[in-house]
Amino acid sequence: MTDRVVRKIVIAGGGTAGWMTAAALSKFTGRAGIELCLVESEAIGTVGVGEATIPPISGFNAQLGIDENEFVRATQATYKLGIEFVDWGGLNERYFHPFGTYGFELEGINFHQFWTKARLNGEHHSLDEYSLNALCAYQGKFIRPEPDHGAVVGRLAYAFHFDAGLYAAFLRQIAEINGVKRIEGKIEKVVRGSESGFVDALMLESDRRIEGDLFIDCTGFRSLLTKGEAGGQFVDWAHWLPANRAVAVPCERIGDPQPFTRSTARSAGWQWRIPLQHRTGNGHVYCDEFMSADEAETILLDNLDGKPLAGANHLRFRTGHREHFWVGNCVSIGLSAGFLEPLESTSIHLIQSGIAKLISLFPRKVNSPREQNEYNRLMRDDFEHIRDFLILHYKATKRAGDPFWDCVREMEVPDSLTQKMALLRESGRFFKYDAELFDLTSWLAVAEGQGWGPEGYNPMADALSDKNLGQSLGNMRGVLAKTAAALPTHQAFIKRYCKAPPVAFESTR
Ligand SMILES: Cc1cc2nc3c(=O)[nH]c(=O)nc-3n(C[C@H](O)[C@H](O)[C@H](O)COP(=O)(O)OP(=O)(O)OC[C@H]3O[C@@H](n4cnc5c(N)ncnc54)[C@H](O)[C@@H]3O)c2cc1C
Repeated sequence: MTDRVVRKIVIAGGGTAGWMTAAALSKFTGRAGIELCLVESEAIGTVGVGEATIPPISGFNAQLGIDENEFVRATQATYKLGIEFVDWGGLNERYFHPFGTYGFELEGINFHQFWTKARLNGEHHSLDEYSLNALCAYQGKFIRPEPDHGAVVGRLAYAFHFDAGLYAAFLRQIAEINGVKRIEGKIEKVVRGSESGFVDALMLESDRRIEGDLFIDCTGFRSLLTKGEAGGQFVDWAHWLPANRAVAVPCERIGDPQPFTRSTARSAGWQWRIPLQHRTGNGHVYCDEFMSADEAETILLDNLDGKPLAGANHLRFRTGHREHFWVGNCVSIGLSAGFLEPLESTSIHLIQSGIAKLISLFPRKVNSPREQNEYNRLMRDDFEHIRDFLILHYKATKRAGDPFWDCVREMEVPDSLTQKMALLRESGRFFKYDAELFDLTSWLAVAEGQGWGPEGYNPMADALSDKNLGQSLGNMRGVLAKTAAALPTHQAFIKRYCKAPPVAFESTR
C-alpha cells in the first residue's frame, strides 16, 4: 500500500504553519491533480504570538503573488529593519543587529576587515554608521527599495512585524481560492496501518474519518501526528538555551511605530517589543528555574510603553526539535517540528524553509525514504545553525551577578560554535556552513555588540594605506548618512501606501 502514489494531502492544524503550508502547496496541487484539505479546530485555537519575521518572508509572499501593500494592510504590519538589543552585552549597553550588510567591499576584501583595522588604530566610528538599516531604524526612516532608487537605497533589507493570526487568515483566503478544503473539527485519533505504522486517517470528534496519502502535522506544540515513538526522541537543547517559558501581552502603541524589534535582557531572560500598526506586542521569555511566572508577568507589565490591551498569556515551551521531521507519510512543520526561542524571529522562517524543502522533495509515492532522509538532514542543519547563533547571544555576555546570566556565560557550547567564535574573535573571519541562515553581518553585529568582536584582521587589509583607508571609510559613512537622511519616515511610508484600518480594543484592565 505504501507503493501508492500521493493523490491526497491532509494538513492537520490551521495556525500560521498550517495556512502557510496550505497556501504554498495549493499553488501546485490542483493543477497536479492532488487533493488538499486542512483540518483545524476553532475550539483549540492557535498559539497566538509570533509577530516578528526576517527578510526571506518577502520571497515567500512574492511566490504566492501577494501584493505587499495589501498584505501589510491586512495584517496590521509594520516594517522591520533589524533588532535593537538592550542590556545584552552588559547593563546600560545597546547595539543594533541590522538586516542587510555593513559598508562596501574594498578591493575584494570584506569591509569589516578594514573597519577592524581602523578600530584597532583608534578610530571610534561604530558599525551602525556603516549600515543603512541601522541608520534608518534609529531615524525612523523607511522606503521599499525599487530598481530606480539606485544601488545605495537598494541595500535596505527589510522584513515585517505582523499579527500572525491575521496572516493565517489572509493566507487561508488564498488557499481556499486555490481549492483547499477546510474541515472544522477536533482530531481525536490518528489511525495508523498496523504493519507500516503509516498514517491512514484522522478521526474527528464527530466520528468523521479523514483519509489521505501524505499528512502534514501542523498541530503546534501538541504534535498530534508525530509525538512519541513516531517522531523519535525530542532533541532537547535546554542545556544551551534554557529559557522555557514566556508571558505575552499586547499594549497600546505610543507614538509612531519604530521600524525595528527591541529585545531587552532581563534578569532571567529577555523582553520583546514589537510595534504593529494597531498595537504593540510584548513578551517576556524566561527560564522557570530562575524566575516565577508571577515575577515574569510583573516585570513585563512594569515595562510596557502603553496600557495593556488584554490579559497576560502564559506559555511553556521546550527548545529543540523532533529527531525525525518526516517519518513514514507524515511531515511536521511549525511548532510540531520543534522550537527555538523567538530571539531572532526564526520560527516562521523555519516553517517557510520546511515548506520550500517539502516542495522540492515532494514525494511521488506514499513511501519515499530517500526524500524523507534528505528532508530530515536539511531540516536538522537548519535548526542546528540557528541554534548556534542564538547561543552566541547568551555566551558572549559580560553580564554578571544574575544566576541565569552567570550560568549561560559559563556554559560549554557546541564545538561548531566554539570554532566560529574563535575564528571571528582572533582574525575577524567568518564562513557560512552550507545553507546557513545568518551571515557575517549578523554574527559580527552580535559579537561586536556584546564585546566579543574581532581582535585581529586579515593581513591583506594592510594593502590599503592608513590615509586611503580613512578616506574610504569616511566616504562610506557620508554616502550612507546622506541616503538615510533623504528617505521618508516609516510612518509616512505606511500612511501613503499601506495604512491598515483602525481596530477597537476592549481593554481588560
Ligand atoms: C512565546 C513565543 C513567541 C514567538 N514569537 C515569534 C516571532 O516573533 N517570530 C516568529 O517567527 N515566530 C514566533 N513564534 C513562533 C510562532 O508563533 C509559530 O511558529 C507559529 O505561530 C506557528 O505555529 P503553529 O501553526 O505551528 O502552531 P499553532 O499556532 O499552535 O497552531 C496549531 C493548530 O493546530 C490545531 N490543532 C491542534 N490540536 C488539534 C486537534 N486535536 N484537532 C484539530 N486541530 C488541532 C489548532 O487549532 C491550530 O489551528 C513564537 C512562539 C512563541 C511560543
